[in-house]
Amino acid sequence: MDDVVIIGGSSAGLSAALVLGRALRRVVVLDDAKPCNRFSHASHGFLTQDGTAPADLVAAARAQVERYDSVTFVRATATAVETVADGFRVSASDGQVISARKLLLATGLRDELPPIEGIEALWGRSVIHCPYCDGYEVHSQPIVIYADHEHSFHQALMVSQWTGDLTVCTAEGLSVPDDWRAKLDRRGVRIVESAVVGFNAPEGQLQGVMLADGREIACRAVFVRPVVHHRTPFAHDLGCKLGGHGLVEVDVLGRTSVPGVYAAGDLSNPLRSVAQAVAQGGAAAAGINFDLIMALDG
Ligand SMILES: Cc1cc2nc3c(=O)[nH]c(=O)nc-3n(C[C@H](O)[C@H](O)[C@H](O)COP(=O)(O)OP(=O)(O)OC[C@H]3O[C@@H](n4cnc5c(N)ncnc54)[C@H](O)[C@@H]3O)c2cc1C
Repeated sequence: MDDVVIIGGSSAGLSAALVLGRALRRVVVLDDAKPCNRFSHASHGFLTQDGTAPADLVAAARAQVERYDSVTFVRATATAVETVADGFRVSASDGQVISARKLLLATGLRDELPPIEGIEALWGRSVIHCPYCDGYEVHSQPIVIYADHEHSFHQALMVSQWTGDLTVCTAEGLSVPDDWRAKLDRRGVRIVESAVVGFNAPEGQLQGVMLADGREIACRAVFVRPVVHHRTPFAHDLGCKLGGHGLVEVDVLGRTSVPGVYAAGDLSNPLRSVAQAVAQGGAAAAGINFDLIMALDG
């Protein structure tokens, strides 16, 4: 039996694997190479790696973790997790079954995008969600907010830090409360009460959005708020307590409410970023190593 099985080998999972490998732990990392940021050209805001392509970031991380002999990698999808007497058993899509004393869930989130034709091709490039990730690249340019919820007004307030040319387009049925109208007005944000229904993006270059009322608004980027889902049902199936936004509740060392199960990265952190995922992965690894030592100590 291995010490730890990590499901998810991106920022959080690889960070944990690095720390655990350096602690001489026998670790299996199970990953199917679908990190949430794979649609983006460049990842921003992670010190020393600002502007690096997400795939290059993971490749460099993985090359460093591969130096540690006690860490092995399985390229497959984890399909089932079960609790056994002395730990956990994880089944993989390639038929392997991995048994380990501790389980780290670093499986991240899946983004459900608003139902606008052509959105998938632009996601992570000119249809974006996080001003800290991609706002600088379009600063001072015309930007549209796809508003489908009151939280979109908060997003608009944030994005107004990056541009003075901002238009909020409201989805059908969403009205703008007076207090929000006043706040946005003070920041110079325009409100158009018509839904975004399409993109003008010849050869993938966004030039504008098409509105339900027939107008087109020129813009370089559109901010949306994807609905996020756990990539796997494992946290729920294992009985891990979920908190705000449906994220897995963890302590500072990544422990969930279920003994032996740890979580790190987007799955358990509302501050979605590579830096946060790396930090949480490292903290969970320290928690796992400590708990394994204490278990032996009796
Ligand atoms: C479009 C976009 C752009 C972004 N840009 C930035 C940016 O510029 N800067 C920044 O700091 N942050 C950015 N982020 C956020 C950042 O990508 C995430 O916070 C970070 O990737 C979280 O890392 P993670 O390891 O928790 O999850 P992920 O990176 O999503 O990785 C989860 C891993 O688990 C694997 N996995 C999931 N389920 C299974 C399974 N059943 N079996 C096997 N493997 C599985 C996946 O294949 C994946 O490799 C962006 C996010 C998006 C969506």
